[in-house]
Formats: sequence, structure tokens, C-alpha cells
Amino acid sequence: MTTAVAAPFRFFSLQVVRTERLGPSVVRVSFAGDDLRFFLSDGRDQSLSLFLPQPGQDAPVVPYELGDGWWQAWRELPDDVRAVMRSYTLRGLRTDVHGETVGIDIDFVLHGVEPGAAVPAGPASRWASQASAGDRVVLLGPAVADNRAIRFRPPADTGLVVIWADETALPAASAILESLPAGMPARVWLEVRHAGDIQDLATEADAEITWLVRGEGAPSAPDAVRAAPLPPGELPYAWIAGESGRVKELRRHLVRERGIDKRRVTFVGYWREGLTEEQLRERGE
Ligand SMILES: Cc1cc2nc3c(=O)[nH]c(=O)nc-3n(C[C@H](O)[C@H](O)[C@H](O)COP(=O)(O)OP(=O)(O)OC[C@H]3O[C@@H](n4cnc5c(N)ncnc54)[C@H](O)[C@@H]3O)c2cc1C
Repeated sequence: MTTAVAAPFRFFSLQVVRTERLGPSVVRVSFAGDDLRFFLSDGRDQSLSLFLPQPGQDAPVVPYELGDGWWQAWRELPDDVRAVMRSYTLRGLRTDVHGETVGIDIDFVLHGVEPGAAVPAGPASRWASQASAGDRVVLLGPAVADNRAIRFRPPADTGLVVIWADETALPAASAILESLPAGMPARVWLEVRHAGDIQDLATEADAEITWLVRGEGAPSAPDAVRAAPLPPGELPYAWIAGESGRVKELRRHLVRERGIDKRRVTFVGYWREGLTEEQLRERGE
């Protein structure tokens, strides 16, 4: 007997339909495409691999028609032809009356695009700052709602959710907060670059949210978390994501100083100061 198993991930060919500036450093890009009817996700911190065109191309070059052989073929393309691959998070999903996905949103942090920026923009930040309706991208995303690119998985006995996210992980933290059950206690720290990047977040959880604006006298992320008492007696589950160095420091604090079982701490480096995503991939990080 053979059992049909749906492939958890597939490629989606998409076009930009709309962009919306959410703050000084965040732009929401909405995408559509016929392929999206195969897109399924339980949300939370659903991560996606996005492929962007090189300058001068009108569509990203990803040899996905090769099936499992796409990765090798993509890597062997010349540097100025191979699509730029970056990790992003599903921030929003629209369905039609039949429940099929018709649109998705991704929130991009714009870093390095301001005049005189100390670190120049990477290709994804640059692309997002100029995106307009009709621009084409390719996405490697989920075709099965519960998939391994969702990492936020609190154990059933969780009595307190602890979240720290910087601006790159704010889309994921926002979607996680939307997914929490009513009344679930949550202690949340969200770090952004500008006060104008603070967003109104929807949640039915009993969430205490602290916004930290970098450079405006806010304590560093680890200090802010270190100084905060957590409600005693509840079994915590922590999810921390953002700049790798800060994520590691916070994980160490939660596990070593707070004594949280390390199996109850999910931590993900979303970017690393001084390194591009290619450099991180080459190092296997
Ligand atoms: C699972 C996952 C989900 C993610 N989800 C999102 C998301 O939803 N939205 C989002 O904006 N990002 C998200 N990121 C982070 C994003 O992939 C990185 O910021 C990525 O480096 C951006 O690519 P780039 O081409 O702009 O810059 P790169 O070419 O990768 O880097 C160029 C330079 O910019 C620096 N840099 C990278 N990101 C930042 C930043 N945010 N601020 C300041 N300097 C930076 C790098 O250290 C490097 O020096 C996610 C990452 C992961 C792993």
C-alpha cells in the first residue's frame, strides 16, 4: 500500500500588489498570485524563504522546475544572475470564501537605506524600499499548515509565555500574540529602532508588553529582561528572536540565571551584526 504524503514546502510565484509604510523603518508588502491557492500555514512565526531579482532582472532566477535539484542548480548560477535568497516571516494571510489563500503580507525592516547609513543596505532591504505593484518574487513556503518552519511550540503545560523580539522578529511576535489563547499570561519585550515603529498589537492573551526604543535611553534588551520579575509558580515557555548576539545573551540569562529548562526556550538568530545572510549560510548558522 502507498500513502500519499503532501510535500510540506513548495515554490510560489508571486507579484507585489501593494506596499504600506508602517513606520520609519518598516514597510508591509502584500503579494498575490494564483499559486497561493496551495499555500497553507498555521501562522505564528511561520518563516519563508524569499527569492528576489538581481538589479536589472524583472524576475528572480530560481531553477525550481528542477524539483529537488533546484538548490544545486541555483548555487551554480553566476553571482549576478542567481536570485537573492532571504528569510522572512508570514505576517498576514488573506483567504477567499472557499478558504483558499489569495494574498499574503510580509513586513520588511528597512536598514541601511537612509542617506549616510553606517552599514549599507542589503539587497532585501533595498528591494523592499523600492517595491511597487507588479514586482515579481518567488517564495519557498508551506503547503502544509503545520510545518517545521513554525518554531513557536509551547508545551501543553505552559502557564506563562515569555517573548523577546527585535524589529526583524516583530512580525513573528505579533502573529504569535494573535494566536495565544484568551487569558494566557505573557511577558513581552519588543525592541525597535524608532518610536514611530511601535505598533498596536492585537491579542486575547493577558500580555504585558514593554516596548524598548534603541538609542532613546531604553535599557539594553538583556538588562530590561534581567530587571523584570516573572510571575512565580507558572511554568514558562520562552521564544526569543532577533540579532544573534542578543538572542544568545538572553537565552543564557533565561537558562542559567532564571533556571528555565532549556527545552522550554526557543531561540532563533534572525540576523547577525556585520554579516550578510549569505555569509551566515556559508558558516552554517
Ligand atoms: C526565520 C527568520 C525570519 C525573519 N523574518 C523577518 C521579517 O519578517 N522581517 C524582516 O525585516 N527581517 C526578517 N528576518 C531577518 C532578515 O532575514 C535579515 O535582516 C536579512 O539579513 C535581511 O537581508 P538584507 O539583504 O536586507 O541584508 P544582508 O545582505 O543579509 O545584510 C547586509 C548587512 O546588513 C546587516 N543587517 C541585516 N539585517 C539588519 C537589520 N534588521 N538591521 C540592521 N542591520 C541589518 C547585516 O548584518 C549586514 O551587515 C528574518 C530572519 C530569519 C532567520
